[in-house]
Amino acid sequence: MSQFAGLGLPLLHAGKVRELYALDDPGLMLMVATDNVSAYDHVLSSPIPDKGVVLTQLSVWWFEQLADLVANHLVSTEVPSQVAGRALVVERLEMVPIEAVARGYLTGSGWTEYLRSGSVTGIELPSGLHDGSRLPTPIFTPARKAPLGEHDENISFATMCQQVGEDLAARIRDATLSIYTRAERLARERGIILADTKFEFGLRGDGTLVLADEVLTPDSSRFWDADEWAAGRLASFDKQYLRDWLVHDSGWDRSTDQPPPPLPADVVAATRERYLAAYRRLTGHELTVPGR
Ligand code: ATP
Ligand code: MG
Repeated sequence: MSQFAGLGLPLLHAGKVRELYALDDPGLMLMVATDNVSAYDHVLSSPIPDKGVVLTQLSVWWFEQLADLVANHLVSTEVPSQVAGRALVVERLEMVPIEAVARGYLTGSGWTEYLRSGSVTGIELPSGLHDGSRLPTPIFTPARKAPLGEHDENISFATMCQQVGEDLAARIRDATLSIYTRAERLARERGIILADTKFEFGLRGDGTLVLADEVLTPDSSRFWDADEWAAGRLASFDKQYLRDWLVHDSGWDRSTDQPPPPLPADVVAATRERYLAAYRRLTGHELTVPGR
């Protein structure tokens, strides 16, 4: 189960991509990003080398950019050498079971919902939008975080209020939209369009809302090349390349229970290059991978 048993720390949770370990201080945890990649709720059998380092280092960069807007869970980047670069010491929070999604552009499940209903999670949108259209203003489209093995489900803001309470729901919505607005601008200045993104929040014992998990990475966001977008094309620095390969080129039938096939070496390399490019374009420097 655990990829880092050598740490000798008690494993608290193994998700599809991240593993959480207990530390001596019960208020803290070690959050380790593996090189696993998941798509369509499957963990693929082929890891993407260094992906965990990209996710972790990009999250750290964003936490710094956003520090004046919202509290975050990062405590320290000093971690055991086996997981250097891919792990963080974080505050152990009570997580809110909501995926806090902000969309500034229409695509993915939002686009699918719009085609069917003209709205996304109950928010009416103007007619005539295309896949990739910029929305008049960014929208908050929450999803219920599904228990392991189930699909996350888009819900309306009213449903979110019933599930977590109106006050907390409004705080999460407002934080999500203000972080998205800041991040979209920063990314745009660097030639990248942040089409949409997903945050997870937790609560401190005193009720403070804290930005947790990973933030604004190619796993949790859609990043497009701004010049390509302006020319009417969607060129992604994220998992979309892999999703497209799985659905169109791999021969895999998504509607069956069959796991997706292993990735050919060139698909692994091309996916890895996109993750590194996202990091490079946003931060302005090359990723340093410890031990290389
Ligand atoms: P999925 O594989 O569908 O993403 P997952 O979200 O359970 O499932 P990961 O993202 O791999 O798995 O693991 C990260 C887990 O850690 C998530 O459950 C997330 O909610 C949780 N988490 C992130 N930050 C914190 C924190 N500061 N305190 C407590 N739990 C956290
Ligand atoms: Mg997750």
